[in-house]
This record gives sequence, structure tokens and C-alpha cells, in this order.
Amino acid sequence: MNRRNALWCLCGIGLAGLTRGVLAKTTLSSIPMKQHEIAMRAAIAMAAQNQSYPFGAVITNANSGVIVARGVNKTFENPLLHGEISTINNYVAQYGNKNWADLILYTTGEPCPMCMSALVWTGIGGVVYGSSIEAIKKSGIDAFIFTAKQINQGSNFSQTQLLGGVLEPECDSLFMNRKRS
Ligand SMILES: [Zn+2]
Repeated sequence: MNRRNALWCLCGIGLAGLTRGVLAKTTLSSIPMKQHEIAMRAAIAMAAQNQSYPFGAVITNANSGVIVARGVNKTFENPLLHGEISTINNYVAQYGNKNWADLILYTTGEPCPMCMSALVWTGIGGVVYGSSIEAIKKSGIDAFIFTAKQINQGSNFSQTQLLGGVLEPECDSLFMNRKRS
């Protein structure tokens, strides 16, 4: 396990106890790593649907671990449809705009500022990612300089819990071996 795998970013837990952006009953650190990895494997499976931009994501119920929505980068359809946005849209289409505090989004790549802002706006309970923005950049994909943590901390109204580096080697290899045209 490398340093990043051990890195828990429990942003906003203190203050966020009073805000909507915290898991109602569960914290990311109380969930077994195995459960995080099962969800991340499902996000990796979604990423296979876009071999050029392998950003796959799933949303799970934080308490049961059950996957409730899946998505993949569809920027060939709409430039805003990053994997996270697709997955948020798929969740809302099925369940409506509710229960966000009980949900966790898993994504193969660290959310960009657009997606991280969107995730904060939803009030989702937690966000877990595999590859860092640095690794994504190394694969030749354009990325903003801001980390997900910086965007999360830039909100003074609601923050979510963040955890990076879950199945990082597998996610990194998705990006490094992506189809380049
Ligand atoms: Zn994004």
C-alpha cells in the first residue's frame, strides 16, 4: 500500500456535522476498504465503455454498499458529461433529487473542479476516487490545477468527505493505457 492508499481526507467532518454534506449515519473511514474496492471495481468496469477517457463512476448507498447508479464519460455526446455528471444524472433519473447524504460516489479519476463543485452542490455524503489529477495529466488528458480537496474546501456552505487512492494502480493503468488518437 502506498502513501496515497493510506491517505484519508476526512474533510469537513467537524463542521459538516451540522450541514447537509455529510453522511447521515456512516463515515468513509468506518466503511471497510473491501467495500470501497468492490464499488471502485464497478466504476472501473464502467470506464471500459470509454477507452479514450476512462472515467467511470458509480453511486452507492453508504450503509448497504448497494450500487444505485452507474455512469461513464460521454463528452463525445455533450462536453459536460464527465463520468461523475453522467452518474449523477442517472441517479436523479431513477430516484429523483433526494437522499444525497446517504450516498457515496466512486470514480476512477479525481473529480475536476466542475464535477467536484457539482458533487458539493448535491450534498452527497462522500466521494472516493482512484487516480490523482497528477496521474490523469501524465496520461495526456487536460486537467485544471485545482485538486478535488481544494474545491471541496472552497465551499463554506457544504463540504463532503473525500478519499483518494482506492485501487489506484488499477485506475492509473486505465489512464496510462487509454486509447490515444
Ligand atoms: Zn469532471
